Amino acid sequence: MDKKIKILHLEDSLNDAELIHSFIESSSIAHDYYLAENEKDYLTFLESEKIDIILSDFHLPDYDGNEAMKVAQEKYPDIPFIFVSGTMGEDAAIYSVLNGAKDYVLKDNLKRLAPAIKRAMKELDLESMRKQADEALIVSEISYRRLFEAAKDGILILDAETGMIKDVNPFLIQLLGYSKEQFINKAIWEIGFFKDIVANKEKFFELQQNEFVRYEDLPLKTSNGQKINVEFVSNVYLVNNHKVIQCNIRDITRRKKAENALLANNSRLDLAMQVANMAWWEVDVITGIVTFGKRKAEMLGYPPEQFKNYKDFMAIVHPDDVGKTMSAMHDLINGLFDKYEAEYRVLTKSGEYKWFYDIGSVIKKDSKGKPLIVTGLVIDVSQRKHNEEALLASKEYLDKIINTVASPIFVKDTEHKMCLVNDAYCSLVNQRTEDCIGNTGFEHFPKEQVDVFIARDLEVFNTGKESVSEELFTDGWGKVRTIITKKTLYTDNTGNKYLVGVINDITNRKLDELKIIKAMENALESDRLKTAFLSNVSHEIRTPMNAIIGYLDVLTGEEIPGYPKDEIVRIIKSSSSQLLKLINDIIDFSRIEAGAATPKMQSAELSKIITTVYNMFKIPAHKKMLDFQMQISQPCKNIKIITDEPKLRQVLINLVSNAIKFTETGSVQFGCSYNNGKENELLFYVKDTGIGIDEEEHNFVFERFSQSSSIEIAKYGGTGLGLSISKAFVELLGGRIWVESVPGIGSSFNFTLPVGDVKGLNLAAKNADEGRKHLNWKGKTILIAEDNNLNFQLFASILQITGVRILRATNGQDAINKLKEHPEIVLILMDIRMPVMNGLEATRQIRLFDKTIPIIAQTAYAEVEDREKALKAGCNDYQVKPISKELLFESIESFIK
Ligand code: ADP
Repeated sequence: MDKKIKILHLEDSLNDAELIHSFIESSSIAHDYYLAENEKDYLTFLESEKIDIILSDFHLPDYDGNEAMKVAQEKYPDIPFIFVSGTMGEDAAIYSVLNGAKDYVLKDNLKRLAPAIKRAMKELDLESMRKQADEALIVSEISYRRLFEAAKDGILILDAETGMIKDVNPFLIQLLGYSKEQFINKAIWEIGFFKDIVANKEKFFELQQNEFVRYEDLPLKTSNGQKINVEFVSNVYLVNNHKVIQCNIRDITRRKKAENALLANNSRLDLAMQVANMAWWEVDVITGIVTFGKRKAEMLGYPPEQFKNYKDFMAIVHPDDVGKTMSAMHDLINGLFDKYEAEYRVLTKSGEYKWFYDIGSVIKKDSKGKPLIVTGLVIDVSQRKHNEEALLASKEYLDKIINTVASPIFVKDTEHKMCLVNDAYCSLVNQRTEDCIGNTGFEHFPKEQVDVFIARDLEVFNTGKESVSEELFTDGWGKVRTIITKKTLYTDNTGNKYLVGVINDITNRKLDELKIIKAMENALESDRLKTAFLSNVSHEIRTPMNAIIGYLDVLTGEEIPGYPKDEIVRIIKSSSSQLLKLINDIIDFSRIEAGAATPKMQSAELSKIITTVYNMFKIPAHKKMLDFQMQISQPCKNIKIITDEPKLRQVLINLVSNAIKFTETGSVQFGCSYNNGKENELLFYVKDTGIGIDEEEHNFVFERFSQSSSIEIAKYGGTGLGLSISKAFVELLGGRIWVESVPGIGSSFNFTLPVGDVKGLNLAAKNADEGRKHLNWKGKTILIAEDNNLNFQLFASILQITGVRILRATNGQDAINKLKEHPEIVLILMDIRMPVMNGLEATRQIRLFDKTIPIIAQTAYAEVEDREKALKAGCNDYQVKPISKELLFESIESFIK
């Protein structure tokens, strides 16, 4: 007894009380001791203290022990009451115990007191425990009953021996729709709704023996024929030593429906995922363990167990994609993003890569917010990728095509902003693609051009009709070009309108057109001039020829009075000179045309040249009563110049003869001076007071075959060659020529010439002359292929001086034969036009057996084509007829040295 108990002692004798208390003290009972000497104290302590046990004397002067017990039992029936008395008789003791006293102890046997107190207290404990147990049982029975009544599962209680239904709860009654009477005292196998399931005896015996049976899903029929699904669980247990079976029947119809619905949903989801080529997955962040929806493995062709860990999966991701995929996952796990997104290739079982789009997020975190589980969806996007790649490839292909197109191409939106430009457009506007895109570029064009662009754009956008227009376009370098722009409307599948433009730059075509027109005009002009020239030439030839022939007749016949012989000879002579001049002009002109009029620069005395020309025209000028003068300014009177003397002389002759020809009265003056005092340049002039030339014809008169349009000119005759030859010669000699003239007043033809390096050239000229003197080709043989006798003789006489031996062939075939017969031949002069076989053919054939022998072709002047043909045929050089002695020597010498 550990608990400290409160002992109330009713005793009128203090001595006895002390003695009794001492016995309690000496025991091991922990206690508080309350002594009541009379009824009043007794009742007070009983009320005020929570007394555990009462000890009482039997006889008290004013009170009675039995009375005290009665009072205590009425108010506190559980407090044990023990009589401690010296006077108590046996009957009284038995009576008191029958009345409820726990015990009695005689004062002369007080050693019993402590055990009596202890026993009483123990019994009290036991009693209170039993009471508690009884109360608990009642409570549990009530609870059980309530549960039984209120349960939302059906409950059947069976007698385990007989199988009879002993109880059924309201829920089952309501669930199945049968009355309680229809259940009670029926054997379970008698009841129809359990038929064929637990309702047969065998099944019941199984249940009896196993003491437990469970059916997850039993289909039952209710009284109104409705089907329900139940879960059936039964347990066997003892009730008051009697075995009962409790069957719990749970209606799972709704759960079943929900499960079916879930199943249906899941299979729908599976189907949807299958259709969408999708699968779900889950990764345990801590362990790396992955769980894949079966679709994912299926999509890749592997068994699902192949992928246990995230790393297993990463092993089949394309090496180039592993990095970005893993870093996307890390970013999610480290909280940088709340979504994981990656696109990667995966090696399928069949060995090809498939593209996947993967998206996921954290679905479970620990208490600190650290991700535990990541889940997501993966979608097979191979087809999309394939389409994208195909699109990209076709875009690249298209880009390549449009960038290869030489015509500039652009696409604009309705705000005139560029959406696409090709390389040709960029180079036209001198801008990069990225600078063009998104801009109108209008700021680079003059306003009037922009207005035209906008008007044309709007026309196409508004009418939808194609527009083709010629426009001016300032390119990226500021050059104004003429372009033809074709603009077409394009509407995409979302209804957006675009304008597709293709530019055709026709600037060069335009220029070419102008050139062609000009060339045509020139050709027509040239044709016209040539026709005029020919009629002039024939007129110029016929006139002196008539004179010559006519006067020769006179000369050979009888002398006619009035036609003195001298005069006739003079006329013939002058007519011949006219013819000669004409022929010379034509030859000069031909040489110029053929590019063969190369100047031979030598030193020449200026005054000598001018004086010679003066002397030539002195008489004709005087005959026309003209004041004819030559003027050489003092500083350049005695100078020598480096020039081609015959050509300079020719120029002066042409100009002076024109001046005299076109001047009826007045003067003709010619001469020269330093040009503006510069000692390195001379200014020549031929001034007259003749008919003059219209200003617009000042340049024209220098063109070949050209003559002034003035009617007067016709009477002067001429071929229109003189001035063009003069111009060509002056330019060849390094100067320029121009005319200043006023019709009716007179003209001044002027030209400049460089003085030249007199010292150096004199020396070179001297050396050249000396060199020529020493030309000595004695012992060498050359072959001249020339059908024309006169020409051959000319060659022979020119070459005679060199001592060379000359053989002649009269046609190409003859030349080949001669070359074969005479191996000593060191060079061939080959005429191109010859009978039997021409020079070109002969050269070609010679080249078949002799590749080295130098062959110099002689081509007709001005026939440029012939020269080229000659070189092509295998000739080493060519000479233009009429042959120039110097050039011929030079050429031969360069080969046979
Ligand atoms: P032509 O043989 O016809 O004189 P030119 O070439 O020498 O050929 O001259 C061309 C034309 O230039 C002449 O026909 C004439 O119309 C004009 N011309 C040349 N010199 C003079 C001049 N001193 N005064 C007026 N007209 C001239």
